[in-house]
Amino acid sequence: MIVLVLNTGSSSVKYQVINPEIKQALAKGIVERIGMSGAILTHKPTGRDEVRLSGEILDHKMAIEYVLSILLSKNHGVIKNKKEIDAVGHRVVHGGEAFSDSVLIDEKVMSEIRRCIDYAPLHNPPNLKGINAAQQLLPNVPQVGVFDTAFHQTMPKYAYLYGLPYVLYKRHGIRRYGFHGTSHRFVSDRAVVLDGRPKDKLKIITCHLGNGSSAAAIKYGESIDTSMGFTPLEGLLMGTRSGDMDPAIILQIMHKEDLTPNEATTMLNKHSGIQGVSGISSDMREIEEEYESSDRAKLAHDIFTYRLKKYIGSYAAAMGGVDIIVFTGGIGENSSLVRKNALAGLEFIGMELDQEKNNIRSKEERSIQSKNSKVKCFVIPTNEELVIAMDTMRIVQTQPKKNKSGFHI
Ligand code: ADP
Repeated sequence: MIVLVLNTGSSSVKYQVINPEIKQALAKGIVERIGMSGAILTHKPTGRDEVRLSGEILDHKMAIEYVLSILLSKNHGVIKNKKEIDAVGHRVVHGGEAFSDSVLIDEKVMSEIRRCIDYAPLHNPPNLKGINAAQQLLPNVPQVGVFDTAFHQTMPKYAYLYGLPYVLYKRHGIRRYGFHGTSHRFVSDRAVVLDGRPKDKLKIITCHLGNGSSAAAIKYGESIDTSMGFTPLEGLLMGTRSGDMDPAIILQIMHKEDLTPNEATTMLNKHSGIQGVSGISSDMREIEEEYESSDRAKLAHDIFTYRLKKYIGSYAAAMGGVDIIVFTGGIGENSSLVRKNALAGLEFIGMELDQEKNNIRSKEERSIQSKNSKVKCFVIPTNEELVIAMDTMRIVQTQPKKNKSGFHI
């Protein structure tokens, strides 16, 4: 089976062509600067050289047309005919309370995704554009939606409700939804496999640390809490996002700095976090290069790891213990300093790192706890595209088959 995985942003389309049966990507790439001058397509067929093409790409439909043409091209292609694409899997950021699993996209699903625009005004509209374009360009090919929020729909009400008037939940859906669900699900499932004990016996804390970061408490296979909330702004310190703070600060800053709601949103999402604290960069590699020489870089790093440690401690408390801690995402997979500092002092919950193993650089799944550690610690590269492709295959294969006249058989 061949699945085209699409992750559509406001001015970009990321794609992968995956055969989920053998868990292999045939090609991946990205179209950037859609609707701007100098749009670029970067395409990498597996095992071959990367190609970069520029052109005028006015909208998402044109971008996906461009992707299809390179997938079919003689020199850089990986398929011979559009008909080889059996299904399209779409990453959809917000599924609200409507979706606790991936779904085959139909008109009803589209209108639910539209309803969730209120919760994710920057993400769901481009996701919808991607779905519309793919439906037009690949008619009769099943399209599946895989939601960032779905995995966290198992959270109990006391974990997802805020201390606000209950009517705001009822009227406006104000609650914790959580994000990065596809990644938390993937790495916790891999952790279960690596560990060997049954899923329904394991308490796992997953730390997805990238430009956006979140932690999740996964008890017996279900997400029972996660650090991102109503939006991906809450929780850990992130590249440019503030994470947790006293909500009164926002009102105070808006008043003192004379900011509009839009300006305040931009400040919290784009100019805060590691970038805001360090004044150097949002990129953890650059922060670590300056860790010894710059107080502000060290401060940003320390806030990042201190807050992560607090989340790990609170999730261990929420689950009545922890068996495995997982690190993933660009920072989680690569930064031994983040792992070391975040786990320092957690011996009292049974977590003890093997510093040598922690320092090994590798792209492989690995365990890095010491021999005597009661809690295991795994570094697991995430693969959200593979989850989307696998879900797409599962959903498509469980649909009742239709005959040529369109009737179910
Ligand atoms: P996104 O959330 O955009 O998918 P990634 O998961 O790719 O982001 O993570 C990007 C982050 O990972 C950046 O802050 C980058 O500096 C960090 N990172 C990548 N490699 C390393 C490394 N070797 N050491 C420390 N941080 C790293």
